[in-house]
Amino acid sequence: MLYQRTIAKKVSITGIGIHSGKKVTMTLHPAEANFGIQFKRIDLPSAETLKADATTVGATENNTTLGGGVNSVHTVEHLLSVLYGLGVNNVFCEIDGPEVPIMDGSGASFVFVLKDTGIATLNTSKKFLVVLEPVEVRVEDKWARIEPANRLIIDSTIDFIHPLIKTQNKVFEFSCENFIKEIGRARTFGMLRDVDMLKRRGLIKGGSLDNAIVLDDFKVMNPEGLRFKDEFVRHKILDTLGDISLLGYEIAGKITTFKSGHNLHNLLCRKLLETQSAYQIVSASSLQKEAVEAFELPLGLSPNFH
Ligand SMILES: [Zn+2]
Repeated sequence: MLYQRTIAKKVSITGIGIHSGKKVTMTLHPAEANFGIQFKRIDLPSAETLKADATTVGATENNTTLGGGVNSVHTVEHLLSVLYGLGVNNVFCEIDGPEVPIMDGSGASFVFVLKDTGIATLNTSKKFLVVLEPVEVRVEDKWARIEPANRLIIDSTIDFIHPLIKTQNKVFEFSCENFIKEIGRARTFGMLRDVDMLKRRGLIKGGSLDNAIVLDDFKVMNPEGLRFKDEFVRHKILDTLGDISLLGYEIAGKITTFKSGHNLHNLLCRKLLETQSAYQIVSASSLQKEAVEAFELPLGLSPNFH
């Protein structure tokens, strides 16, 4: 049996928001089985809770935003990716600002905090969304597809006109261990010319070399260099996993993307959910061994019963 997970105790994380440049504190609380991931803006009196769900996504420009108008939470994708990556299904997240702190631009800080806090097992089986037939979305030359597979695989291709990136492809076979080793530490990235333009538009006020890889026309500007030679496509996989986790279940299916972004990931989730013949929801006990084994946690992270 593979059980749902939450965190062992509450924990607070403080950092700056990449778009606002303002300090935000986020407190993650343990939650019961089938609660899912929910966000609440505690700086807004009587703001409704926002469920992390593909249909709650209100904007996908530069980041994934839950909700709309005043009551929204921006840049949820890296935190959601880490929660999926560690198999954590249920968390209540209170936040005192409009966006999840960017930390170092990757999921590394969230992995570190969750390791330290501990992961707890709940007495209810995980549920899987099993893909039964392919679903594809296209926008211009960009596309994303999900198709049947007995475990989660993300095959990602990015294509940038930049000598350090060009075309990069990576196939990520999901397991908690692979996520921590291969994906969680990959940072977001941007081109210096776009950074200047976005800053002039009042966006990414908090953006700096501390929370993104920044490239000029030829090289990486961060003095420490890259964490992986193909850090760019690894970060794309981090984003894809966070966005696809908004399906609300563990996933048994293969996702292939070409030049995808938050918009395409959300379109794919919505189209899949609207195509009733394309998937079914099953309890973890009816799944093949590989899908279940992928959720084994590496040493030092083994969950306790809650
Ligand atoms: Zn990202």
